[in-house]
Amino acid sequence: MLDIFFIAMKTEKEKILNESIQYLKSVGPKRAEAFRKVGIVTIKDLLFYFPTRHLDRTTTLTAAKAYGYLMNGFAGELTVIGKVVDKEKLNFGRKGLLKVQFRDSTGFFECVWFQGIKYFESVFEEGNIFAVSGKPALSKYGNLQFTHPDFDKISEEESNSFINTGKIIPFYRIPKELKTTNIGDLSLRRIISHAVESYADNLEETLPEEILVENNFLNLVEAVKNFHFPSSKEKLNSAIARFKFEELFYLELLVALRNHNYKSQLSGHSLKVKTNLVHNFLKTLPFELTKSQLKVLSEIRKDMEEPLPMNRLLQGDVGSGKTIVALIAMLIAVDNGFQAVMMAPTEILADQHAKNISRLMNRLSVAHKEPASPLVSQGGKEIKVSLLLGGQKKSLKEKNLQDIKLNEADIIIGTHALFEGKVKFNNLGLVIVDEQHRFGVAQRASLMSKGITPDVIVMSATPIPRTLSMTVYGDLDISVIDEMPKNRKPIKTILRGDSKLPEIYKFIIDKMKDGYQSFIVYPLVEESEKLELKAAQTFYDELKETYFKNINVGLIHGRMSWQEKEEVMMLFLAKKFDVLIATTVIEVGIDIPDANIILINDAHRFGLSQLHQLRGRVGRSNKTAYCILITKDEFAARQDKFQFDLEYLSPVQLEKYKSSVRMQSMVKYSDGFKIAEMDLKLRGPGDIFGTQQSGFPELKHANLVEDADVIQFAKKKAFELIEKDPHLQNETNLAVRKNLIEHYSSSLRYAKIA
Ligand code: ADP
Ligand code: MG
Repeated sequence: MLDIFFIAMKTEKEKILNESIQYLKSVGPKRAEAFRKVGIVTIKDLLFYFPTRHLDRTTTLTAAKAYGYLMNGFAGELTVIGKVVDKEKLNFGRKGLLKVQFRDSTGFFECVWFQGIKYFESVFEEGNIFAVSGKPALSKYGNLQFTHPDFDKISEEESNSFINTGKIIPFYRIPKELKTTNIGDLSLRRIISHAVESYADNLEETLPEEILVENNFLNLVEAVKNFHFPSSKEKLNSAIARFKFEELFYLELLVALRNHNYKSQLSGHSLKVKTNLVHNFLKTLPFELTKSQLKVLSEIRKDMEEPLPMNRLLQGDVGSGKTIVALIAMLIAVDNGFQAVMMAPTEILADQHAKNISRLMNRLSVAHKEPASPLVSQGGKEIKVSLLLGGQKKSLKEKNLQDIKLNEADIIIGTHALFEGKVKFNNLGLVIVDEQHRFGVAQRASLMSKGITPDVIVMSATPIPRTLSMTVYGDLDISVIDEMPKNRKPIKTILRGDSKLPEIYKFIIDKMKDGYQSFIVYPLVEESEKLELKAAQTFYDELKETYFKNINVGLIHGRMSWQEKEEVMMLFLAKKFDVLIATTVIEVGIDIPDANIILINDAHRFGLSQLHQLRGRVGRSNKTAYCILITKDEFAARQDKFQFDLEYLSPVQLEKYKSSVRMQSMVKYSDGFKIAEMDLKLRGPGDIFGTQQSGFPELKHANLVEDADVIQFAKKKAFELIEKDPHLQNETNLAVRKNLIEHYSSSLRYAKIA
């Protein structure tokens, strides 16, 4: 009731802010439409479209000073402002180069471009003023020279007041939709400046007064004004500090609400090792568990003994042996008479888990058929494994559902369908979620709504940084397997251009002598003209006729039913194929020990963690494994020439050279934690961890890696507030409540307020 009341009660000020931007000075219907395409509809939206960076006097140099810096050995990035005085196209290589000369009151500098010459020629009109940023060098004529720098256009007037009064100039990201309506740096700044001057005063505060005062934060109006057009560097920093805090504060409020909700409904089970079931199982394994696996297991055991439901994230790089650990936890649950469920992200992976686990359980029961069987102390009951998948024959599925309901099945394996509709568990004690950090909030809520609070282990090869887990999963414990089984050798990763493919095919055929099988991965199933990507089907047909005429080649792709996929995988495992042509359906979890070469076509199209997952398909035995990344020749050649310092990437490099950074990271790093760190830098956490399902709103201001202390503080404040006023009913918290409902309603599904 209260919620509806609030939403209905829009104030006069709010109405003004919610008006379309169309009537703002120099906008109009066409530009308003372009803004709408990038999500800016109302005046309020525009007020919250913040600059990505600012130009201020403390970070810019004159041409003369920059030259001096360079002569003194300074090798970092710097910014210089100058007017275009000349430009010329010179002969250089195949395409030539563009040289643009600039001048300021102290001297000259120049910029050169080897690519996109036509475009840059049109950008740098004589007489225009630009702020140029990059790492300069000396040209062969001894001039201060930037190669492919960043640049922003500023007006004569801005440049004057910048130089004379130290005014700070904001720069905004300009999406291509805006560019097509002729909105550039200058015009966007003018439009936003107008909106800020005329409308920012209407914004209503969204943080509690007490927090503002206590931390000396700028109020919302001042913060918005100073974020766009700061009156000083200090004011800018305090505006940014406020928004960082605010963003994290609301995020933590959601965690606090969820936590409150969860704690008020708890009732778990205490699960202990009862018989020697686990002990006997360990004896049937052909290997010893690593120290790391044992450590993680003891953490899990401790959690299971507690009567509170376990909520644990099990991290470990691809191939580190998470499955066995999970299986042992499942056996503990079974040992206590409970059912255990394993949820896999794909049907073939579920199928593979079911086969492996059934095999291990059979071995266990065979090993203990003797009279003193531990299965007797288990009530004489053998451990039954049940696989539940969509597309199973109706009769089989019905039987499986019955088994699950009647506790005939102890270990149940399937996909997310396990948590939907029809499945009724008899006595669910443990849920394992494989390779999917998305589980968690939503599925747990769905189980809780059925009155079940099982122990939960989420397994992931993508390590979640501590700051992030602290934030998103306020109540999640973490175990890490940080050691690989002993027999593993590092995987050799190389990058090659497509013209090398014939040689690589020959390599694949050569290596068959040593028992190697190979994956060849393509991004799509069928040819798509638009993207020019190679497609598995087409290349399968072609390769079979040409390079791989005399060897056995299989094909697997996402359009097959899981039964078809399963058949192909079984044949590959049985070495009926030497080469398997595949799409990314093999990405997750598939375990074929003799497949030790993976060739990934159009590798630059894949995400970093996806590439690492794909690479994880090989290197599962004691043979040297190879991961060969294929890109266009030109691209591959460029990577040799321009090697990034991956430890110190600038924001510009991260923004503009994503695919190069991905390729170079793959070649340089084999450690999944390192890869994940790079991925986080490239993509941001919202993208990686799935905004919707993890209940994780995208962060605009705060950085989860850098702002750990702000997170901590915001968390403290948020938890304090919810503890005092769990339903946000106090007068002083009404603004917070209103803002939550307005802006975080989708996340609130899991964090009821009242
Ligand atoms: P992931 O952590 O990627 O899920 P898996 O659980 O699939 O890894 O394990 C990869 C392979 O390593 C499997 O074939 C598994 O049987 C094997 N394995 C697991 N633990 C060990 C160990 N301690 N020593 C040797 N091999 C192991
Ligand atoms: Mg796995």
